[in-house]
Amino acid sequence: MSLYIASLNSGSNGNCYYVGNGQEAILVDAGISCRETERRMARIGLSMQTVKAIFVSHEHTDHISGIPVLAKKYGLPVYITDATLYHGNIDIKREQVIAFKPYEPVQIGDLAIQAFPKFHDAAEPHSFIVNGNNVNIGIFTDIGSPCDHLTLHFKHCHAAFLEANYDEEMLEKGSYPRHLKNRIRGGHGHLSNKQALEVFTKHRPSYMSHLFLAHLSRDNNSPQLVQQLFNDHAGNTQIIVASRFEETAVYHVQAEHTTASISLPKKDESPLRIKPSYTQLRLW
Ligand SMILES: [Zn+2]
Ligand SMILES: [Zn+2]
Repeated sequence: MSLYIASLNSGSNGNCYYVGNGQEAILVDAGISCRETERRMARIGLSMQTVKAIFVSHEHTDHISGIPVLAKKYGLPVYITDATLYHGNIDIKREQVIAFKPYEPVQIGDLAIQAFPKFHDAAEPHSFIVNGNNVNIGIFTDIGSPCDHLTLHFKHCHAAFLEANYDEEMLEKGSYPRHLKNRIRGGHGHLSNKQALEVFTKHRPSYMSHLFLAHLSRDNNSPQLVQQLFNDHAGNTQIIVASRFEETAVYHVQAEHTTASISLPKKDESPLRIKPSYTQLRLW
């Protein structure tokens, strides 16, 4: 009863996250080259043969640049909204494109993937929750501000990739022009360390075993600083900083008996339709 997860790269220079159950897997975003994706997966013992689909969060280059070659080489279906495909201008064969809708889980083998909208300066940005073997994994990057969707889903994650993009003081004192600083922190840009920490400390379930701090800014953050900040509040959760330069190890996330208090999904039931208030909430 477990899933395997890893970040292959995380940051404004490329994002690619792996979630698998041993037989099948998906990539959320493919923002590094096909060659680099293959190389990094091989280094941590993951096989591209297990990857059955790519899910795309939004059209920014750091999330899509590897898609054309990866999708073509492995014949992978690409789950993407029409607006994201249009604005990303991605070169993929029509027959490999599958549109997804928020709140409607997609089944890839024994994995169920559900998207929900987020605040970000893109056409139709989405976060994802992956459920398999009674384990929930959240992929929450490129978030301008934490909405109710995010916090509700976060409460059910055994592990999550959560954006911690910038330290507020480093951004303010840094060299970015004012308009860029305001774009980053203006509600549709990125999540600060402080905002991420608040999500974690307020909404973390007791059974969250791993938190990956993701999409760190090169100029406005420090891996040591944010690791320390979260370590001080980590409790039983292992904090992993996902690098801008290399893959993380593969982490084995297990469903524990302590999760039994939430109704776990039946095999043919959407994992996120357990409580109407948890899944039906729409913000816009
Ligand atoms: Zn990004
Ligand atoms: Zn983005």
